[in-house]
This record gives sequence, structure tokens and C-alpha cells, in this order.
Amino acid sequence: MKKNETCVVTIEDMGVNGEGIGKVDGYTLFIKDAIIGDVVEAKLMKGKKNYGYARLVKIIESSKDRVEPQCKYARKCGGCQIQEMSYEKQLVFKVGKVRENLLRIGGFDENLLDLVMEPVKGMKTPFYYRNKAQFPVGYRKIEDPKNPNKKTQGAEPITGFYAGRTHDIIANTDCALGVPVNEKILNEVLTYMKENKVKAYDETTGKGLVRHILIRFGFTTKEIMVCLIINGHELLHQDKLVEKLVKIDGMTSISISSNIRKTNVIMGDTYETIWGQAYITDYIGDIRYQISPLSFFQVNPVQTEVLYKKAMEYAGLTGNEVVWDLYCGIGTISLFLAQNANHVYGVEIVPQAIEDAKNNAKINGINNAEFFVGKAEEILPAYYQDYAQEHPGEQAHADVIVVDPPRKGCDETLLNTMIQMAPEKIVYVSCDSATLARDLKILCDNGYQLKACTPVDQFPMTVHVETVCLLSKK
Ligand code: SAH
Repeated sequence: MKKNETCVVTIEDMGVNGEGIGKVDGYTLFIKDAIIGDVVEAKLMKGKKNYGYARLVKIIESSKDRVEPQCKYARKCGGCQIQEMSYEKQLVFKVGKVRENLLRIGGFDENLLDLVMEPVKGMKTPFYYRNKAQFPVGYRKIEDPKNPNKKTQGAEPITGFYAGRTHDIIANTDCALGVPVNEKILNEVLTYMKENKVKAYDETTGKGLVRHILIRFGFTTKEIMVCLIINGHELLHQDKLVEKLVKIDGMTSISISSNIRKTNVIMGDTYETIWGQAYITDYIGDIRYQISPLSFFQVNPVQTEVLYKKAMEYAGLTGNEVVWDLYCGIGTISLFLAQNANHVYGVEIVPQAIEDAKNNAKINGINNAEFFVGKAEEILPAYYQDYAQEHPGEQAHADVIVVDPPRKGCDETLLNTMIQMAPEKIVYVSCDSATLARDLKILCDNGYQLKACTPVDQFPMTVHVETVCLLSKK
């Protein structure tokens, strides 16, 4: 096929990023926004020797799993990849992804997987689940009809989302994944900007003031936080903004964070509270968390609880156990586990997160959780070696080790130390089933067996899937 050539393709499979996959005379095409079962007209945009990337031109025959998207920008926006697929089918796709990786990368047997894989945990209402949103602020780009390469800028500030893989902002204050109150807040901020002639930031020139609007919402407490990220140190007429925002029910914290760097990083290094508290409070299960503008906090609190309950169930604690929670963030899992354990050790690389973890332990009256700052692959081996030196003839003991690493998975040094420590159980929480499968293979080649595995859908409408696995000592 040649570039710009069009063809008719039946979509037979889906790639890891949610793109439809089909073949034309043995040549594989990846087509964004096409789903399994669609027959589409596609145009080749980039052709390689054995495969190519094509653009969806027209749907000729709709898949039976295709649904009307909730958001009219679903295709343009980079946020959701599979909103046009029925939720039921999305879950099937996610389970398939986890299973494939365990099979191919993990080398697990098909029969074993039939036995250990539990049903996926999806959401009852797979929309409006995010408790945090960061909206870029800018100006509309208007294309010159005579010259598509020339764009002029609109006069009024807008906020919304970046059109997939660009930094052009498309105005939309009504994202279907965020909470409905976002819209009201965004419109108040935009009105304040217009009335007070406060400029939006322009990435290309580095001029203008308001870069992003961060909104956080406590699902249990209904508390709201708004933080404006600004290209400067002062927000003009900030009292006018406060005046508008405090009228919104639940407003708890208003702040500004100064970020004057030319960077894609959204938040500045610090923030200043201009009204109310410095943080909002929310719950996961019975544990209370204080969340500041810079804190990490799971974005889907409903499914986070589902995930942690599963991790808890797999850990099977009776109250006597010594538990390690590696990659513990702000101690979310650690504090959950501490309620039923003798002692929990949490390890996390970001110092601020450990500060939050300690504070969260304190406000919940939990005193059997201890936290360390550092790399899991350095802290645990060092602890293991120091213990052996201080207690000749003995070795450091853990009953359960929980890991929840970032996408790249666990470092091999860490896996080796875990194997040496030989806990009865290992609970692996993963956001990338490919690295999960790779790590499970190592553990299962060294004395562990896969007992149970549950995919949890933390991010409906996207291709991401969270998985929690239980391994026990053979
Ligand atoms: N378990 C937490 C966070 C999981 S996200 C929760 O559920 O909220 C993964 C965490 O691992 C992040 O907080 C990240 O900062 C941390 N991290 C990344 N690399 C690390 C490493 N090498 N050692 C320890 N922590 C690490």
C-alpha cells in the first residue's frame, strides 16, 4: 500500500493502545478509533514494511459492540481511547490483555489461568469517576481556511483538553470522566479571567498567567479543592476569584502554585493557600487522608477501595503478621493493611509522599506502621543484610510482602531479596500486566506459585487495567 491510499478493512483485533487491527492482503493495519467487528474505510498515513498506521475515514459497517460515546470529543481527545466500545466489551478486552501477558510473557499454563483468574471488577457507572482533573488554559487556535499551516489565536481564554498528541486546546468543560461540578468551577474561573482581564498562558511565547486549573473532589466528604497553576508569583485580583468560587457548595481549599518554567510539568514545586484549608480530606474505606495540591492520591477512589479490599483478602491477615508494603506512595495500602497486621513497613522513593504517609498514619491513630524513604530495591536488601549481621544465624522475616510498582515493574535485586526473605505470601498490585507477567515468572521459578489473580478496572474508557495477584510459597 502507498501513503494516502484508502482501503476497506475488517477489524479483527485490538492493540494494547486500543487501536483496531485489520489486514488487507496480509498487510497489517493499525487504525485508531476502529473497534473489533467494524468494517471501515481507512487511509494509510505511515507505511512500514510489514505493517502500517491508517486513519479511520468512514465506518462502513458498525461493530455490534460500538456505542454512542458519552462525550462528543471522545475521538479528538487523547484521554479516552475506547469510549466507543460498550463497557462490557471493554472489560473483556482488559481481561484478555492480562491473560495474554500472563500466558506469553509469564509462561503460565492455560489451565492454571482458568483456575486462578477471578472475574474482572468493573464499575457500575463507568463515568464521572475521577476525583482529580488538571485542565490546561489557553486560547482557541483558529485555522486559516486558505492556509491550514497558519493558525491565529482566539481572544477569549478557554479551558478543556489537548487534542490527541498536540498541545492545541479544545474547549470542553464537561469531561465525562471527571465530576460534574468541574464544569461550574471551570466556568467561574473563565468568567473571573475575562472580567478581570487575566491572561491565559501561551506555551509558545511563555507569556500570560494562568496555565492550568487543578480540581480535586473528595468523593466521601464532598470537599472541593481548586488550585490555579500560574506563570508568575501573584494572581491578579485574586479576591474576585475567591468571591466566585466560595459560592460553590463544598469549596474547602483554594490555592495557587507558581510554575514559571517552560516545561510540560504541570505543577510548581510549592503552593500557597489563598482561601480555606491547605488540603481536603477524603476516605478510602475507613481510612482518612489529607490531600494537598501536590499530594499523590489514587484518582478513582471507588475502584481503589475495591482493589485494596482484594489485596487485603489476598494478604489474609489475622493480626499477627509482619508486612512490607513496597512502593507505598502516601501509605494508602500500608494503612489499610495495618488495621489487621502486627506491623507494617512501607517503602517509597518520594520523600513528600512519606511525609504524607506518616501524617495519615497519625490522623488515623495508626501506630503500627513505619515508613522509609528510598528505593525499594535498596532499602529491603539493606534491611535484610543488616538484620543478618545484627542477629547471627537468623534472617529477617516477613509474613506478607505487598508490591505496587510503577509501570516498569520491580527491580530484579528486589525480587531476589523477596525470594530470600521467603514470605508466606506475596501480593502483587500492578498497573502494567506485561511487567507483572515478567516479574511473576521470576518469582514462580523460585519457589512461589500463582494462586489468584483479579483484574480491576480503575480507568474505564481507557486501555489501562490494574491487576492484583496472590502468590504463595510452594
Ligand atoms: N501503593 C501506592 C502507590 C503506588 S504508585 C498507592 O496505592 O497509592 C507507585 C509508587 O512507587 C509511586 O508512589 C512512586 O513514587 C514509587 N516508586 C517508584 N519507583 C520506586 C522505587 N524504585 N522504590 C520505591 N518506590 C518507588
